[in-house]
Amino acid sequence: NPVIVAIDGPSGTGKSSTSKAVAAKLGLSYLDTGAQYRAMTWWMLSNGIDVNDATEVATAAGKPAIVSGTDPSAPTITVDGADAAGPIRSQEVTAAVSAVSAVPEVRSRLVELQRSAAASASVGIVVEGRDIGTTVLPDATLKIFLTASAEARAARRNGELTGPAAADLAATQAALAKRDAADSGRKTSPLAKADDAIEVDTTELTLDQVIECIVTLIEE
Ligand code: C5P
Repeated sequence: NPVIVAIDGPSGTGKSSTSKAVAAKLGLSYLDTGAQYRAMTWWMLSNGIDVNDATEVATAAGKPAIVSGTDPSAPTITVDGADAAGPIRSQEVTAAVSAVSAVPEVRSRLVELQRSAAASASVGIVVEGRDIGTTVLPDATLKIFLTASAEARAARRNGELTGPAAADLAATQAALAKRDAADSGRKTSPLAKADDAIEVDTTELTLDQVIECIVTLIEE
């Protein structure tokens, strides 16, 4: 049976680095579902959709063709055939993504893509997000919920940013807290730990230690 690994948790816990490395080590596919919500958001912003108008977002949700490449050593994402890897990381997209993700039509569209990616992974797949263990793949072989202190998460995220945005740790921490509150508070599939998920607090762990911990759990 294919190995299905769900890795959920708030922003800045090291989900992406961890998920990619675990998948690469075990020869599994990799899917970044956050990138899909970001791609949807980028398309909405590029096409003049008011992201705070849930009706407008719902009507448009079926339009963009979003395709994820699932090789963990070179994950890709395209929207209507155009490479979206760069633009989906912009501050504009990051600020708007929680509002777009809260719209049920957006979620049902992307959950369908996510389930079909998991179903077509022959060896298995590591899927990272916010609601993978609870909603997208409730029958996953292993569910991990990554956490870390607010300070550690902001410091890690700041290290990933470049330019003026990198300077202000307090601003990063505030922005993460705002996004996590929105992601946790929405009505449809909020950020949540599944009852049968294993929680891993990464605050005091190196990336290699987190990877090792999850690989061991998968191999058990
Ligand atoms: O993981 P990342 O920070 O790139 O995710 C961006 C946003 O996408 C999250 O803040 C959340 O609003 C949304 N998201 C979601 N469900 C997922 C993955 C991401 O709602 N499974």
